[in-house]
Amino acid sequence: MRQYVILGTGPAGTAAAEVVRQEDPKARITLVSREFTPFYLKPALAVFVAGRLERDRLIRPDTPVLKDPYTEVRAGARVYRVFPHESRVLLSDGTSLYFDRLLVATGAVSRMGRRATELRHKVHTLNSFADAVRIAGTGVGKGAWVLVEGEGHTGLEVVRAFAMRGCRVVYLTNHTRFWPPGSPVARADVLEKLLSEKVEVLFDETVLDILDRNGDGYRVVTSTRRAIDVDLVCEAGALEPAVGYLEGSGMLVDRGVVVDRELRTSFDNIFAAGDAARVFDSENGWTRGNFGWQSAREQGRVAGYNLVHGGGRRVGASEAHFRRLTGTALLERWGD
Ligand SMILES: Cc1cc2nc3c(=O)[nH]c(=O)nc-3n(C[C@H](O)[C@H](O)[C@H](O)COP(=O)(O)OP(=O)(O)OC[C@H]3O[C@@H](n4cnc5c(N)ncnc54)[C@H](O)[C@@H]3O)c2cc1C
Repeated sequence: MRQYVILGTGPAGTAAAEVVRQEDPKARITLVSREFTPFYLKPALAVFVAGRLERDRLIRPDTPVLKDPYTEVRAGARVYRVFPHESRVLLSDGTSLYFDRLLVATGAVSRMGRRATELRHKVHTLNSFADAVRIAGTGVGKGAWVLVEGEGHTGLEVVRAFAMRGCRVVYLTNHTRFWPPGSPVARADVLEKLLSEKVEVLFDETVLDILDRNGDGYRVVTSTRRAIDVDLVCEAGALEPAVGYLEGSGMLVDRGVVVDRELRTSFDNIFAAGDAARVFDSENGWTRGNFGWQSAREQGRVAGYNLVHGGGRRVGASEAHFRRLTGTALLERWGD
């Protein structure tokens, strides 16, 4: 009986677990998540923060692995190190998990960690269920001022969440990174939408300092020395794969775990999928990362099959495997 360990309970990890169960009915599967609420709809976090979705509808009790008595879910357990030569994963609570096959599907997080330690605790982020609950708990509502520093899809989603909550939003972003080139939604349309929603967009200004106004909000000083008084600061910067725990493991990591089109890492029994992976396509000569719930699921399915059979399925070169989003069209969501 093989032991499969799957790091991450997002769409990539759960889809992989479903396929492993189909392909290897006797398998022992262990899923690991550092989150205490491991199964929820990440693309719906903004709607929850906006106050338009009940907490219970964000959580996914329908996740098939939850009904599988032979799949163990280790929630609230952080992966600390991976030792490929020992086929062992070390969790931060000191316990170890041994595997025959391992999947790395720990997604991506905002680069916020790089902010100076002194400022970090003053800044919210929106990448998990816990983040969303924390923001909702601040009670910022109609008329409150919120400063968002960010870019791309996640920046837009965070701005939308606060705007729909009735807040006044100032959005600090970068001219080139504001909107990704090649997106099916035009940059000009995104900007027009923000302006029509009365979001104040400030290009090429960054947060330099955040001063606590005696517990009554914050004064943000920007790189142009502009002072902006706000009730809450949120960051939604570029995402980067959450694979720091692989340092020293010998696994090839370059803006994500480098995998071939069968999603195999530099170790034969270890695969990676979803936002944590960087797919190297030797035929087309590119490497590519994922962003999107559906495409993460697609990659998870491919990885699940290959975990069991050692290979045989490949991710395609099309958008379906790299950027298939779930949810309503981006600019039509504002009235949700
Ligand atoms: C604000 C926001 C809005 C989005 N909007 C959309 C949208 O509208 N449509 C869309 O399709 N996509 C959207 N996305 C993107 C989409 O959610 C992701 O692409 C998708 O969830 C990636 O799936 P994944 O399984 O690779 O990783 P994730 O869903 O990120 O799951 C990662 C898992 O790994 C676990 N983990 C991470 N590190 C560790 C560790 N060290 N130890 C243990 N566990 C760990 C986490 O707890 C989690 O279970 C959005 C993302 C964000 C942040």
